[in-house]
Amino acid sequence: MRRPFIAGNWKMTQDRASAVALASGIAQRVGAGNGVDVAVCPPSCYLDAVGQALTGSAVGLGAQNMYHEPKGAFTGEISAAMLLDVGCRYVILGHSERRHILGETDADVNKKVLAALAAGLVPIVCVGETLDEREAGKTLDVIRTQFTGSLAGLDAGQMKQIVIAYEPVWAIGTGKTATPEQAEEVHFDLRKIMVDCYDEAVGQTVRIQYGGSVKPDNAAALLSQPNIDGALVGGASLDVDSFMEIIAGAA
Ligand code: PEP
Repeated sequence: MRRPFIAGNWKMTQDRASAVALASGIAQRVGAGNGVDVAVCPPSCYLDAVGQALTGSAVGLGAQNMYHEPKGAFTGEISAAMLLDVGCRYVILGHSERRHILGETDADVNKKVLAALAAGLVPIVCVGETLDEREAGKTLDVIRTQFTGSLAGLDAGQMKQIVIAYEPVWAIGTGKTATPEQAEEVHFDLRKIMVDCYDEAVGQTVRIQYGGSVKPDNAAALLSQPNIDGALVGGASLDVDSFMEIIAGAA
């Protein structure tokens, strides 16, 4: 049985005060937890303050990115050890905004995934097709290529520690959500890819979140699909009530 996992990606929003207030509000309402794993991923400069606001609650702290090198002359970058040092358990890797706006490749993501795992972080690895790719019937090819490239070299034990987020690029921040059936089809295919590349145990263990305009009014239908194990939520994670309604939809 895979435990549902809802994570909020705050992207480049908030200031220090609003980030702490949002984290405190979520921490209070989640409390000691209710059968759903919950995490928030604030901008890196607020990780420490948000981590403190989450103290004593079941809400985990996640980063939105990291660099694969452990330390050195890499101006502007943050290592896995630094994220652990400020209390992170999770790190989002290969988000479509990093792939498409900042030019991250599968090979870049792969180095980060391996470094995150080696340090003891749980990577949330994002994959997803663009609208052009979907309309050209290439969704499965794109997903398979991103999966094999971003996760190259992981053994079965490492695979079981990661979380995958299927995020169709055309649904992120657009208000257009994949239908539960469209999302389930890709999640099913992703699980099949894992069984093909590894084994049944890996395929049945790895949690796959859906992301792309998840809102309180569509969350429960998406989350009730057999292969959708949670959600990576952008816009709707910035309001305590709407984030809590999504979490309730997973319980
Ligand atoms: C995301 O940031 O990963 C995301 C899915 O954003 P939104 O929920 O706003 O579409």
